[in-house]
Amino acid sequence: MTAFCDLHHVPYRICGKIVLATDKEEMPRLHALYQRGLANGLTDLQMLGPEEIREREPHAAGVAAVYVPQEGIVDFHKVAQALVQEITLRGGVVRCSSRVERLKQSVRWQIISETGEDEADFLINCAGLHSDRVSRLAGNHDRTQIVPFRGEYYRLRPERDYLVRNLIYPVPDPKFPFLGVHFTRQIDGCVEAGPNAVLAFAREGYRYADINLKDLIESLTYGGFWRFLLRYPSICWDEFYRSCRKELFCHSLQRLVPEIQVDDLGPGGAGVRAQALSPSGELLQDFYFIRQPHALHVVNAPSPAATASLAIADEIIDRMKDAFNP
Ligand SMILES: Cc1cc2nc3c(=O)[nH]c(=O)nc-3n(C[C@H](O)[C@H](O)[C@H](O)COP(=O)(O)OP(=O)(O)OC[C@H]3O[C@@H](n4cnc5c(N)ncnc54)[C@H](O)[C@@H]3O)c2cc1C
Repeated sequence: MTAFCDLHHVPYRICGKIVLATDKEEMPRLHALYQRGLANGLTDLQMLGPEEIREREPHAAGVAAVYVPQEGIVDFHKVAQALVQEITLRGGVVRCSSRVERLKQSVRWQIISETGEDEADFLINCAGLHSDRVSRLAGNHDRTQIVPFRGEYYRLRPERDYLVRNLIYPVPDPKFPFLGVHFTRQIDGCVEAGPNAVLAFAREGYRYADINLKDLIESLTYGGFWRFLLRYPSICWDEFYRSCRKELFCHSLQRLVPEIQVDDLGPGGAGVRAQALSPSGELLQDFYFIRQPHALHVVNAPSPAATASLAIADEIIDRMKDAFNP
């Protein structure tokens, strides 16, 4: 990704990240994360004590942290624009606002969209929030379903964004389905705080007011969704309650940066996770591919799939080649 950004003059900054343990109970998980990073080939990882944490992030408080020097931030709009430019230069076409509505497979795929018809030898479905539906259009009967979870953010007021230098993340806890709120400095200099995770009432439900009855009924009548709720009742309720109460959101952020106050948090944006849930109520944490003759469906591509998009593309191409030369 950094090589691609260099080539296309896309602004990015390798600023490093700290993953912060705020109490001793988190230490075994922090150590495990450190070991996994080393096993995955990350060099120069550092375990930090409280003093070293303060050197990197003077306003963060924790008992220990892992410093990951390879982490960075990028202007992803510009990455997407550069990808479009590259595709176009190589003779491809990017067609926006053109929903795929039907798929037929005979000798080749026939792809019928809002703006016309196309043919293809191989179909790759990366339709994010609608990837399960597109997979069903292609004749798959996999019962995994996308349930949209909105992630809401606040932005630190500019006069207080000195409280965060770069990226401050909590230690992931496998007991919880979502990572938890954290701080991310953006390439434009502002600091985002979030995201939480609340059920969105539409697949593109960026606000509570965005309601799509078809999407909502589909989520509420899916057994996997209710099994998920039964598995994590208090977490789901806490996430919803925190979404409605800014002071609770602030309280969660104070675990990482105790000086943060409610008044430091200005309005931010929101994103919707295209989260695949299995029929048994399990939240899929990894990539989920469905293979079909001459088609590949990417039905779950969780974060950091944007950062890893070029590596995922390599994986997709390898799988496509395998399909042609089994
Ligand atoms: C709050 C939040 C924070 C995140 N933070 C990070 C981060 O820090 N780093 C990171 O790497 N990742 C992050 N992610 C994850 C990242 O955004 C996703 O993993 C990534 O966008 C998945 O890429 P995708 O191509 O599979 O799907 P998408 O990016 O969702 O793209 C799917 C595309 O398919 C189109 N589409 C849908 N249906 C149809 C149809 N029927 N016909 C034609 N087109 C269709 C959509 O319009 C869209 O353009 C975050 C996500 C959220 C929600």
